[in-house]
Amino acid sequence: MRRGERQPVKIKLDRTVCDGFGLCAVHAPETFSLDEWGYVSLVGGGSVAPEHERGVRRALLDCPVHAIVELRPAEDAPRELAR
Ligand code: SF4
Repeated sequence: MRRGERQPVKIKLDRTVCDGFGLCAVHAPETFSLDEWGYVSLVGGGSVAPEHERGVRRALLDCPVHAIVELRPAEDAPRELAR
């Protein structure tokens, strides 16, 4: 990644919290896939293409149980073990 270039948005889904409202899949169907009971899984492993970022941000805001969170770059990077 070049200097000044924006890092892609990464998200995490906690399926143990998801209540199957399905709002996320309405806002960003290319990122959230619903199963037959209305529970979601992430398409693409949590990396969000720039063209889908707007819908994903809407999904984050509208998820009633906050099951979706945005990962900050430091949280996404491998952690160094404490000495
Ligand atoms: S909006 Fe939230 S609760 Fe609803 S399906 Fe998506 S992650 Fe689950």
